[in-house]
Amino acid sequence: MQPRTPLRRLLGPAAATKLAALGLQTADDLLRHYPRRYVERGELTDLTELRPGEHVTVRAKVLRARERELRRTPRGKRRHLLQIEVGDSATGRLAMSFFNQHWLVKRLRPGTEAFFAGKVERFNQALQLTNPEVEDADDEDADAFAGGLRPLYPATKDMSSKRIGTAVRILLDTVPPEWPDPLPLQVRRSERLAPLTEALRLIHRPESWADVARARERFRYEEAFVLQTVLAQRRQAARALPATPRRAVAGGLLDAFDARLPFELTEGQRRIGGEIGADLAATHPMHRLLQGEVGSGKTVVALRAMLTVVDAGGQCALLAPTEVLAQQHLRSITAMLGPLAEGGLLGGDERGTRVVLLTGSQPAAPRREALLAAANGEAGVVVGTHALLQEHVDFRDLGLVVVDEQHRFGVEQRDALRAKGNAPPHVLVMTATPIPRTVAITVFGDLDVSTLEELPGGRPPITTHVVPAARPAWVERTWARVAEEAAAGHRAYVVCPRIGYGGDTDDGDGVDTADGGPIDSPDAANARRPPTAVLDVLPEVRGRFPGLVVEPMYGRMPSEDKDDVMRRFAAGGVQVLVATTVIEVGVDVPEATVMVVTDADRFGISQLHQLRGRVGRGSSAGLCLLFSEAPDGSPARARLDAVAATVDGFELSRLDLEQRREGDVLGAAQSGRRSSLRSLAVVRDEAVIRAARDAASELVEADPQLRAEPDLAAAVADLLDADRAGYLEKA
Ligand code: ADP
Ligand code: MG
Repeated sequence: MQPRTPLRRLLGPAAATKLAALGLQTADDLLRHYPRRYVERGELTDLTELRPGEHVTVRAKVLRARERELRRTPRGKRRHLLQIEVGDSATGRLAMSFFNQHWLVKRLRPGTEAFFAGKVERFNQALQLTNPEVEDADDEDADAFAGGLRPLYPATKDMSSKRIGTAVRILLDTVPPEWPDPLPLQVRRSERLAPLTEALRLIHRPESWADVARARERFRYEEAFVLQTVLAQRRQAARALPATPRRAVAGGLLDAFDARLPFELTEGQRRIGGEIGADLAATHPMHRLLQGEVGSGKTVVALRAMLTVVDAGGQCALLAPTEVLAQQHLRSITAMLGPLAEGGLLGGDERGTRVVLLTGSQPAAPRREALLAAANGEAGVVVGTHALLQEHVDFRDLGLVVVDEQHRFGVEQRDALRAKGNAPPHVLVMTATPIPRTVAITVFGDLDVSTLEELPGGRPPITTHVVPAARPAWVERTWARVAEEAAAGHRAYVVCPRIGYGGDTDDGDGVDTADGGPIDSPDAANARRPPTAVLDVLPEVRGRFPGLVVEPMYGRMPSEDKDDVMRRFAAGGVQVLVATTVIEVGVDVPEATVMVVTDADRFGISQLHQLRGRVGRGSSAGLCLLFSEAPDGSPARARLDAVAATVDGFELSRLDLEQRREGDVLGAAQSGRRSSLRSLAVVRDEAVIRAARDAASELVEADPQLRAEPDLAAAVADLLDADRAGYLEKA
């Protein structure tokens, strides 16, 4: 028997077909179909001391056995009943019934001695066990049977947990000692982990909880290790690619920019600037993830990286997930650069460059001009949306791609952009929300990670309150706060989960998809609730504040309108924006100080955190007010309370992740594929993942092709197998 041996050959076609329904095709598949949980068997008990309702294990000899056929099921299926009577060395007698377990007839002939485990029942004045578990008394594991653990497997209607257990046992009994183990010997030794064959026995036939723990420890590590090996190979492969080094030039654009900056860079911005500078100067492409709290100043870091590349003669592409964000980037970059963004123009700085915008909905003329500036190299920075990925967009010398808000871009899209360089460009990825390091090294494991820990100094923290709908006075007070802020020259956001009345709700992720739903007419149910959609809330807010300019903002608005509204909001001509989550990512108006979120229960933890990061970005404190219909003590309310309780984005994203299944964490849910992580929990197993990453990196460093570890190489190949690698591709 080999790991790849088909179950058909080992167990016959009937069982194999039923196991195939569970996705199990090979010996390895079945052996790695781990029990979901275990139940403890009853203690060994004398037949004379049985009491109804107790879970017991008895050791006894079969005295009599009788099988009969029962009436067929309505569907015509045969049914069998095997009745036996057993006795022990003393005077005890006990009846047992087995339904539809024909194969036991041979095993339970009179005279056979065995263990039986089950729950004692009273039937016709006598005690009996129904469908007890049977273990041969002369089996080597017999001693551990009583009081031991019975595995419960993920099962189907046609293939019960018990029958799966039987099939597993058949395989376990024939696993040869030289069964391939993906974990290299030295790794197993230094981590003190069970060898594979031992771990398989422990997980399927444990004698104690300690056995289960030891097996699980090994399988967790193995999963982390194989995954980290894949990622280490990717890092290695990336290092082998050639790239044009882009070294900083003294007295260039970057220096001129730094001299213009109205603030001091934070410690972290400086340190990461150094890391990125070193990456850019290398002869292989940078693959770096830049993450940090909302408002920690990632954009400045990215811009300084771009200026380094422009100084070195290259061009940069900044890829944003939405048009609103692309336009906002263009505006803020142009503003930060000032005369430095007017390269080639009269009155511009001679060291300057051009920053152009390229989006899908742009009118033809500016679009042609942007395309030309990208192609002839005049534009040092091209800001855009997915339109940048299209084939006819050419660069003269693309040196750096900055991807903003990573989670909206797939690897394919990064690759498409990379293909536009003469040599592969350097890549800097920025995430919108901080992710726990353990997730970063699992999901983005092929990237180096830089984290901005602190917020720029002196910025007052955001205060967040939950405003229950059941407290009308609080609701009134909330709106009064909005009026006060506006009166003080500040700006307010009112965020709604939807645009129209009964329209599609936000899916908690998409910026533009939030606006994808139809705009329905109000229905009776909605009419009774406080308004929560942009188009409902808008007239209400306008009604409350006749002296203020209140405008809507959502993804489906024509882009000129969006741009116009954002511009007026930033300048102060509009004081209140009633918006969808289109403002979630990166929108930066320092004068915005208050945010009201209607129907906050509809948003996820990380999303709320991301949203409130839009206020308090200037010198005044931010205030975020979460309207909620959720009753005190409900899970939805608990989530909102968590958001109100801390501004630590890492803590919140951890909370968020803990509430999801691992597959979701890894993106497998989106791709519709099953996660191949079975034992590993990304959040819980941080220490394991770290250890495995170090060990895998060391191994791949020494032996990139895994020539000395064919069993590991096979496991890696399996993981990369088309449909299993889905979540890796999503990263
Ligand atoms: P992020 O993209 O990480 O959410 P931004 O880069 O948009 O954050 O920065 C948020 C705000 O902080 C911007 O207005 C930016 O100009 C400002 N900022 C960035 N770095 C500093 C700093 N070192 N000191 C003061 N303000 C800063
Ligand atoms: Mg940003």
